[in-house]
Amino acid sequence: MQARIDLPPSNAEIAELLSREANKASYVLQRAYRRAARSAFLWEVEGRDLVAEKRPLTELAHIGPFLQKQIRQWIRRKQHPPRPPPLRKEFLTLTESRVRLAKVASWGTRLRGDLQMHTNWSDGSGDIRAMADAAVARGYEFIAITDHSKGLSIANGINEAKLKRQSAEIEAVNSEMRTSAKSLSVLHSIEMNLNPLGEGDMEPAALRSLDIVLGSFHSALRRKDDQTERYLAALGNPHIQILGHPRGRIYNYRSGLRADWETVFREATRLDKAVEIDAYPDRQDLNISLLKIAKRCGTRISMGTDAHHPWQLEFIDLALAAALAAKIPPERIVNFMPLKELRAWIDKVRVAEARRTRTNRNDKCSARSADSCRNVAKLTRTRIPSHLRQRPSAN
Ligand SMILES: [Zn+2]
Repeated sequence: MQARIDLPPSNAEIAELLSREANKASYVLQRAYRRAARSAFLWEVEGRDLVAEKRPLTELAHIGPFLQKQIRQWIRRKQHPPRPPPLRKEFLTLTESRVRLAKVASWGTRLRGDLQMHTNWSDGSGDIRAMADAAVARGYEFIAITDHSKGLSIANGINEAKLKRQSAEIEAVNSEMRTSAKSLSVLHSIEMNLNPLGEGDMEPAALRSLDIVLGSFHSALRRKDDQTERYLAALGNPHIQILGHPRGRIYNYRSGLRADWETVFREATRLDKAVEIDAYPDRQDLNISLLKIAKRCGTRISMGTDAHHPWQLEFIDLALAAALAAKIPPERIVNFMPLKELRAWIDKVRVAEARRTRTNRNDKCSARSADSCRNVAKLTRTRIPSHLRQRPSAN
């Protein structure tokens, strides 16, 4: 949102002013400034409005008397920071997101669910039931439980056996929902960790039992060279339907990966897969500029809060506002689909992937002898291409 120099600084600008102060401050103060800067993205009201109403700024999260004094001064002097550096560029605040959304009231009402969240099965704090209750309170039709997969041990990622046990818990919550006439469906899902080659860390059979699979990179995210190939490989992973937090950026910490985004998004469109807007305030990934490219490429968009606590489902407003700002057509947003349509899309992607995998395998087969092809076909249960169905002659 454009800074209004006739007004005192907005929360976004206060966040930038705080981040700049952090760079000059001693260690202890630096932490306080940084924490306050990050929380400014989630303040429910504009700091300047609080001052105008003669309310204390200490009502805001992570603002004590010292920072209150500093921020009051900025507000009084109408101080505006220079444009943020790339490390802090294009992060929306909750307040400005809600202003944007209020202008197009129909936008938020299209939302039917949230497709990324974590529970106490990995590194989240709520259980599945708590996440489901929070989703019911928001009027959702579906949520996807996307705990981390086993390769991400730092986030207590789950293996195939745990995924199966989790599945039983999801079933139990779904049946409670049905009994109490609530219309929420909890989808079985996972945020599968992808290595830089785009490969996942879970058995395909375990993934096939899920309703939807999100794949994300969590390593080698500080590479400076072009990573287009990595994205193409990830999108080509036959088991995923959504590429999670694609850039891998973190506010004031990591700018994320570089790629030829047009090529990446065109490939996603070709495969009919979705790229995500991860609405976690520190991530906001994809950001508006990249979403505009995705829009041009006609790519499907998925929105997920990446919530680790039930209350964090409210982050979705950041994703809704970013999609609106980038003018993503509503029919390209998978969270706007009724559940039946969402499932049909996933099925279609899976069928296309199965066909693609078969074709690739058969292409490889045609280069081999008929016998070895038959062996491969037997092992992988693929159809033998017609030109190789005849037994080769003995000579
Ligand atoms: Zn992640």
